[in-house]
Amino acid sequence: MEAREALLSRVSAPSGTKIKDPATGEVIGHVEFAHPGDVAAAVDKAVAAQPAWAARSDEERVALLLRAADNIEAHAEELAYVVSREQGKTLNGLGARFEVQACAIWLRSTANTPLPVEVLVDDGTNHAELHYRPIGVVGAITPWNWPMIIAVWQIAPSLRMGNTVVQKPSEYTTLSGLAVAEVIGEVLPAGVLTVIAGAGDVGEALVRDRRVGKVMFTGSVKTGMKVVEASAGNLSRLTLELGGNDAGIVLPDADPQAIAEGLFWGAFINNGQTCAALKRLYVADAIYDEVVDALAGMTAKIPMGVGLDEGNLLGPLQNKMQWNVVNRLVEDAKARGARIVMGGDPDPGAPGFFYPKTLVADIDNSAPLVQEEQFGPALPIIRYTDVEQAVEWANGVDVGLGASVWSADRDKAREIGVRLQAGTVWLNSHGGVDPRIPFGGAKHSGYGLEFGVDGLKAVSVPQVVSG
Ligand code: ADP
Repeated sequence: MEAREALLSRVSAPSGTKIKDPATGEVIGHVEFAHPGDVAAAVDKAVAAQPAWAARSDEERVALLLRAADNIEAHAEELAYVVSREQGKTLNGLGARFEVQACAIWLRSTANTPLPVEVLVDDGTNHAELHYRPIGVVGAITPWNWPMIIAVWQIAPSLRMGNTVVQKPSEYTTLSGLAVAEVIGEVLPAGVLTVIAGAGDVGEALVRDRRVGKVMFTGSVKTGMKVVEASAGNLSRLTLELGGNDAGIVLPDADPQAIAEGLFWGAFINNGQTCAALKRLYVADAIYDEVVDALAGMTAKIPMGVGLDEGNLLGPLQNKMQWNVVNRLVEDAKARGARIVMGGDPDPGAPGFFYPKTLVADIDNSAPLVQEEQFGPALPIIRYTDVEQAVEWANGVDVGLGASVWSADRDKAREIGVRLQAGTVWLNSHGGVDPRIPFGGAKHSGYGLEFGVDGLKAVSVPQVVSG
């Protein structure tokens, strides 16, 4: 066994459900999935550990999170190996090593973000302060696209604020969830972080457990709505980071060559399997052909293949379900007469869930590839003549996670950007996140903020002390 395989074999069960590499179909390990009835025992552990964890000083919790970050770095290659093999992403580029490094960066930043007691009033007569207290037990539910960093986004602030956590990874990427929690958990007291492997019914049981005071959920809009319903009887606090169908608007003064790389990675990061990836591109008629050509040139250069191959920058889709979604939407676009600039011709006999990098031009805004979230490597590029029309189209969907505007003139980009209904608007880039900057959605993309001081406040109970 290679050294980098050690963690995968540690978190893999000796038997159970077979977990397959999405690039090759090879069995990489096994998972023993829990049943909804097992959730209570996991929550018992978190409940038992919580008072002692909350009783530690903030400095102690900060020190442990910093040690967890160091431990992530010490096991970086083993973690990258697990997520590459299970999720499919490449070791290099914006892939597995990038995701693992982000785990360490977020743990450190979350540990180092100050949240002092706020003095609200101190006028000689009255004194009022605002404290942030632990909620208790946080239920953390993650998807399969970025299984390690999204878990850290939920776990790190929750622990920092004195909560304990029960984490349920996606059933598609359980080993990645177990691996990252194993490495973080090595430096923590028992019971502070518990992982329960299971499918949606286990997630639902976690949400329904009355002792879970807060649910951090990242996943689809449909499941987010189920989480709201299932949590209603507990009045649980919720942070919901749901799907997006992010629009980008390219203004006529943009330089097509200069923006091609940013557009490409904005759309194709992790093969498009990213909540805040660029999923619909609106380009001004005056430069439409140049932008399509520049994007095609960029796209052609990016190697796709097995994630473990050091030369590749894009891998397969993670699962067949998603492959089917992408294939259906591209086939529909073809049938409507859209122009396939490149890709769109998967080899159904090939091993793994590879779908070729696909650019679809001259497509109508009403096409399902534009209106639905494709979550894959197929970008629709829509032509507009009037920017007011582009703004209307960009805002014409139920979701609003991110959006971007591309222009040689930053002020002009900003003017259009602030009119877009999205939690984050990027100017001349798309999808970058930063642990110091709050991130959250508009409309059906969810509510609640992650990261920075707002992210800490979201996993605590505000308490006013007055008098
Ligand atoms: P995706 O992973 O495709 O974005 P989902 O929203 O289905 O979409 O999954 C996100 C996470 O939510 C996964 O961990 C999944 O097991 C979990 N999940 C699915 N159904 C439920 C549910 N009813 N209640 C709570 N969690 C759920």
